[in-house]
Amino acid sequence: MSDCIFCKIINKEIPTEIVFEDEQTIVFKDIHPQAPTHLLIVPKNHLESIKSDGSEQVASQLIAAAKTIAKQKGLDGYKLSFNVGKEGGQIVDHLHLHLLSNQLCH
Ligand code: 5GP
Ligand code: ZN
Repeated sequence: MSDCIFCKIINKEIPTEIVFEDEQTIVFKDIHPQAPTHLLIVPKNHLESIKSDGSEQVASQLIAAAKTIAKQKGLDGYKLSFNVGKEGGQIVDHLHLHLLSNQLCH
């Protein structure tokens, strides 16, 4: 999706602090953090939201990535959330999982 900001980040057209990347997933710091640690866990394939067909499988991959990264970063506790649709607070229409923690990670 050429006009999607997360696709641009995935394609390295917009510089971002990337925390983790593999073939399917990219993780980067939220530009407006809502907690000491605020990461966005994003599938490289463009899906609009949890409402999209097939999102369940992708969501489980994102949760697995979140668990791995939290462990790597030594985060003992965190909050995971999907905003779904405009009324659910979703601003960027590219599926993503928020990981927030009161613990700071580097
Ligand atoms: P949403 O409200 O759609 O669930 O969350 C989108 C998140 O993306 C917001 O927390 C917002 O701060 C973050 N965001 C929007 N644009 C950018 C960007 O260009 N770079 C980064 N790192 N985060 C962004
Ligand atoms: Zn996209």
